[in-house]
Amino acid sequence: MDIDGKGVAKEWRDKIRDEIINCDYRPCLAFILVGNDLPSKTYVRMKERACAEVGVLSKPLYFSEDISELNLLKNINILNNDDTIHGILVQMPLPNHINSQKIINNIDPNKDVDGFHPTNVGKMVIGEDDCFISCTPFGIIKLLEAYQINTKGKHVVIIGRSNIVGKPLANLLIQKNDKYGNATVTVAHSYTEDLTKICKTGDILIAAIGKPNAITIDMVKSGAVVIDVGINYVQNKIVGDVDYDNVSKICSLITPVPGGVGPMTIAALLHNTLQSCKKKI
Ligand code: NDP
Repeated sequence: MDIDGKGVAKEWRDKIRDEIINCDYRPCLAFILVGNDLPSKTYVRMKERACAEVGVLSKPLYFSEDISELNLLKNINILNNDDTIHGILVQMPLPNHINSQKIINNIDPNKDVDGFHPTNVGKMVIGEDDCFISCTPFGIIKLLEAYQINTKGKHVVIIGRSNIVGKPLANLLIQKNDKYGNATVTVAHSYTEDLTKICKTGDILIAAIGKPNAITIDMVKSGAVVIDVGINYVQNKIVGDVDYDNVSKICSLITPVPGGVGPMTIAALLHNTLQSCKKKI
């Protein structure tokens, strides 16, 4: 059966919209986009549209590819000191001459609604509530909760160890927390030996690789829950990392692509921005 990320995300967004309609404050999210990368432009456009739908204001700051690191840092500093801005999103990837981690490190952690700043990551790892959790892992946790998928004592196999998906997700799932934690987590990556054997032991299998159809039916335990994070463009079509047509025949639940994790990531961003605004007020 499909996990309806689109539907769960809509319910979440509706709650956010209702809360904003019924209050006298307006959250504002600043978008920094550098260069002309088409997927990046599309992601920013989608996020801005989602903001507008729930009543979150957007402040777009679009820069040319050749902006200097120093100039970008100056702009972030202005946003950090602007009380009308509650969230700062820097769309990745940035051009090679800019140190992305340095840019992230200079965002005020209280406005880091993407949850990438070391302060937020560190708090999340030690299990403090007072932090922003990065949007994709947060969205996946919410999706598991919505479908009452208990992670306690389960073996979760995550393929991918990026700072934005695999690592934070693994850290959330091992928290001593009955709501979404207490799992036993294996994180696989490109150096993992015998990936098939490891994947097959996963009660919950989460693919965040960035390669179409990388997870095939022989890698999946029968009855497993499969979360496909991947977004890949194949002949103008968006597909995930999982061979959906075949894997869906043997697993119990699976997120489709599109319509699975993606909408939850955006809803989590709106949630974090609203929380940031409420905290400020
Ligand atoms: P990265 O490229 O940063 O990380 C990919 C990870 O997959 C790496 O850890 C890499 O290993 C691992 N990997 C690559 N090939 C293999 C392989 N053959 N076997 C095992 N592991 C492998 O990607 P992201 O984490 O940023 O994104 C992953 C995917 O999720 C992408 O398709 C991206 O577009 C999508 N995405 C979707 C989001 C959503 O909202 N749905 C949000 C964010 C991302 P190593 O570290 O060794 O290189």
